[in-house]
Amino acid sequence: MRKNLTELANNPDLIPGIYNYCDRWCERCPLTSRCLVYATESEATDNNDTQNDDSRNAAFWQTLSETLAEVRQLIPEWAKQTLDLDTSLQQNSVRRRSRHVDNHPLTKAGKQYANTASEWFRELDHNSEITLTSAERPTEVDRQNPQPFEDAREVIQWYQYQIAVKTMRALSGRKEEIEDPEIADFPKDSDGSAKVALIGIDRSIAAWRLMQLSLSDRAESIVPLILQLDSLRTKLEESFPQARDFMRPGFDQIAAA
Ligand code: SF4
Repeated sequence: MRKNLTELANNPDLIPGIYNYCDRWCERCPLTSRCLVYATESEATDNNDTQNDDSRNAAFWQTLSETLAEVRQLIPEWAKQTLDLDTSLQQNSVRRRSRHVDNHPLTKAGKQYANTASEWFRELDHNSEITLTSAERPTEVDRQNPQPFEDAREVIQWYQYQIAVKTMRALSGRKEEIEDPEIADFPKDSDGSAKVALIGIDRSIAAWRLMQLSLSDRAESIVPLILQLDSLRTKLEESFPQARDFMRPGFDQIAAA
């Protein structure tokens, strides 16, 4: 017999509000067993195997996190070799305080990244003669993940538009916090949203690196996308200096514990 919402909410393992600052990617979430939103959706679809899902998802994000550490070392070198791609972002930042959220440089940069990524995939799909031979895959990626290309694509496309959306929510939240100091208590919702955007950026950078390793002949074309994201990450961190410290219910609290 299916449980109703009250019965589901009585589960003591649930973390209140965990779903407020997540990326809504439940299929990849390592904390589905602690989430009321997931519980209600699972109840509707009769999926009760949340523990196995959580272990698998935790391993997936650990692999991606290791790739992020590696690509961070490569970014400065790529940046040196590339023309200053974020010139327009820097110029725009001078005027950003006077603009509305939709016209904010961070919003524009997020949307620009999403469009560039779309174009990249469109071109890739157009040239469908590209094949992934095992010889193209470095062995360490093969060992960790038998499907680096598909995983990378899935991650990139999940966050592709969410980065801009969460950035806009952060900007909008901050505007409200400034206009109404009563809601500007800590922790700030704007910092929470900015953190979700930053995590999306981190994961996307790592995924693009996996994509480079899977498609060695396209590695160069991916460098500008990584630099674009890295620039956006820097600007977002500058605009929301407390965002990284925001403790998301569940995700960061468990990591800290
Ligand atoms: S916390 Fe996890 S399971 Fe819950 S809504 Fe967010 S992504 Fe889905």
